[in-house]
Amino acid sequence: KAEGRGTLVVYEQGMDMVVQDQHALEIDLRLALQRGEFEIHYQPFIKLGSDTVDGFEALVRWRHPNHGLISPDRFIPLAEETGIIVPLGAWVLERACADAMSWPKTMKLAVNLSPIQLRQGNIVDTVARALKISGLRASRLELEVTETAVLAGADSRRALELIAGLGIAVVLDDFGTGYASLSHLAEMPFKKIKIDRGFVANLPTHSTSRAIVAAITNLARELGMEVTAEGVETEEQLIILKAAGCTNAQGYFFARPHPHSQIEFNVMKPVDGRQKHA
Ligand code: C2E
Ligand code: MG
Ligand code: MG
Ligand code: MG
Repeated sequence: KAEGRGTLVVYEQGMDMVVQDQHALEIDLRLALQRGEFEIHYQPFIKLGSDTVDGFEALVRWRHPNHGLISPDRFIPLAEETGIIVPLGAWVLERACADAMSWPKTMKLAVNLSPIQLRQGNIVDTVARALKISGLRASRLELEVTETAVLAGADSRRALELIAGLGIAVVLDDFGTGYASLSHLAEMPFKKIKIDRGFVANLPTHSTSRAIVAAITNLARELGMEVTAEGVETEEQLIILKAAGCTNAQGYFFARPHPHSQIEFNVMKPVDGRQKHA
């Protein structure tokens, strides 16, 4: 995989079908953008305390003519290997910023950025352009990057600093799964940390996950950063997360990602036992 395009071939018995699929998918992927086959679904994130929708994360999907809706986990890696992520990412930014202009002015928009986009040099221009043509204020935009992006090198870190300088919130996604050191957290201009959903899933059963969540939350507070728990599926998880001091939450407990025409700005779920029966 590290060797780049065309090396997805896995030389194992019985893998020929998979290889065929990947090559066909790569050809389709190249055409998908011009054919308008990508769409964006939006999932709300909730501000805990006021328990209101704070904004929506843009999550891209590919509506393939034969295979139906394909999840990003399946095509983003391929888009990264082929470089298609650069125009695709620019499209997501422009489309999502335009969509967000029809939301109440308090609602934020979060967009995921690939490390490849950060390395391409003109990501700052791409982001600035999406804001300019849509008219969206920089303060309403959040850009989510993973630890890989932070470790990708000085150019990527410089790009993130420039983005933060535009007044855009830079968010560290899936925190706890990568190899970034704690000192990276303090050095980088992160406004918010998203705790990976793997820790959230284990919360009720694993005391180690509870300890990790508590440690991340405390550290974030000390550094003046917000903390979002992602992948919240149950009220039990939410109660633990609130007690730990998470400031935001996102997950199926509140809402799944939905097409733009179906998003709701006040999808409120009861977030503690008292409100549940109110
Ligand atoms: P992510 O940014 O960490 O997004 C969260 C993922 O968790 C989404 O999956 C979301 O649908 C899923 N999720 C949300 N709540 C729950 C829950 O309660 N339980 C469970 N099991 N899952 C939940 P999705 O939409 O399949 O996206 C997967 C990943 O693909 C994203 O992870 C992100 O890394 C990437 N991705 C999505 N859209 C884009 C994009 O436009 N650009 C880039 N570069 N990456 C994207
Ligand atoms: Mg994300
Ligand atoms: Mg995430
Ligand atoms: Mg993720």
